[in-house]
Amino acid sequence: ALIITDECINCDVCEPECPNSAISQGEEIYVIDPNLCTECVGHYDEPQCQQVCPVDCIPLDPEHKESKEELQAKYLIISGQA
Ligand code: SF4
Ligand code: SF4
Repeated sequence: ALIITDECINCDVCEPECPNSAISQGEEIYVIDPNLCTECVGHYDEPQCQQVCPVDCIPLDPEHKESKEELQAKYLIISGQA
């Protein structure tokens, strides 16, 4: 999963781009639900939120490191295909 850092400027550009609805407005900044973020595996070649974020504040979450296979398995579960 990816994570949004406190450099987020609350621009709301990333939220509608997420194919898994993993991004929402948190108390202070936008947040990513690691249970829903597949790093866009299953949908796109590149993480869409990273592509659009104007301040580049969405790195990999070191607390939620996953292999492509794990991300693919998560995609199948949340999309109802597994
Ligand atoms: Fe959503 Fe993809 Fe960003 Fe994860 S990497 S939060 S799935 S847009
Ligand atoms: Fe925050 Fe970047 Fe999302 Fe804008 S695009 S809300 S700055 S994480």
